[in-house]
Amino acid sequence: MSRDQYTFTNPAELYSGLEPKKQHQPEPGLDAELEPKADLGEETYRGTGRLSGRKALITGADSGIGAATAIAFAREGADVAMSYLPAEEVDAQRIAQILEDAGAKALKLPGDLRDADYCRDLVERAVDGLGGLDILVNNGGKQVYNEDLASLDDEQFDDTFKTNVYAMFWVTKAALPHLSAGSTIINTTSVQAYKPSEILVDYASTKATINAFTKALAQQLAPKGIRVNAVAPGPIWTPLQVSDGQPQEKIAEFGQQTPLGRAGQPAELAPAYVFLASAESSYVIGETLNVNGGTPTP
Ligand code: NAD
Ligand code: MG
Repeated sequence: MSRDQYTFTNPAELYSGLEPKKQHQPEPGLDAELEPKADLGEETYRGTGRLSGRKALITGADSGIGAATAIAFAREGADVAMSYLPAEEVDAQRIAQILEDAGAKALKLPGDLRDADYCRDLVERAVDGLGGLDILVNNGGKQVYNEDLASLDDEQFDDTFKTNVYAMFWVTKAALPHLSAGSTIINTTSVQAYKPSEILVDYASTKATINAFTKALAQQLAPKGIRVNAVAPGPIWTPLQVSDGQPQEKIAEFGQQTPLGRAGQPAELAPAYVFLASAESSYVIGETLNVNGGTPTP
């Protein structure tokens, strides 16, 4: 299953030993209990100093895409503040250790993104602990499937929008006074923004919102030298999917409908975040970088 950013390989055959298997975890789900384990790039990501001296805040940094991004950022030379839920401490500790092993500072700042006060406090603690901030990755997210709008309760609708949309607004707004020219903001949308599943009405709506938020704010902040972009993952093997992100019977075939014919791994997302965070993407603004195994997007 060995992969890295440099080896010439067939992407359709990559990760053939890592097929998703039917299983269930309660929300928010843990990487520690995911079977088979996802690839976060722990063994493979090699940095080349592209984020040297940078200071990043990543929400949902304990597991999945956020954790793979945190590992890549640390190996590219950045210090990282990590937001996650207190129930995810075991995952967060493992990732923080990997960041420290890379020589990075890792700040663990658990809390609930549905709480505006936590979001604002998170930014202040990240800025204090890292000595500034110049990369913000809004990645924390909630996805719980629902087959019938009549049973989609107000609480879930509200929680999904709070976690995916309001938190992005609260954290970004609190971060702005600290971001100087050259800073970058990366939001996490989804292929669901363009190709919504019938069982993800609330979730897909938040992801379309994130795309519009990104493209509007990108124009507002470009003259200040702050670049805003988004990454749109396709089906990626993470705890989100096994904690009611999908119905149980769909887990085993998760990702097979993509042109590549398989689910993606978090490690395959991290280079997209590194590209958008680093100065090499200086002329890329308001873009959504799709990392989805080939599904066409607008
Ligand atoms: P994940 O479960 O590993 O990460 C999501 C993280 O969100 C959790 O680790 C948790 O820390 C955080 N979170 C959720 N609710 C929270 C709350 N109330 N307060 C604080 N933190 C909270 O799963 P992932 O798939 O890596 O998800 C990361 C992002 O990628 C999400 O925004 C998700 O919507 C997006 N995404 C995932 C997929 C996929 O197939 N896995 C596809 C498209 C987009
Ligand atoms: Mg998690």
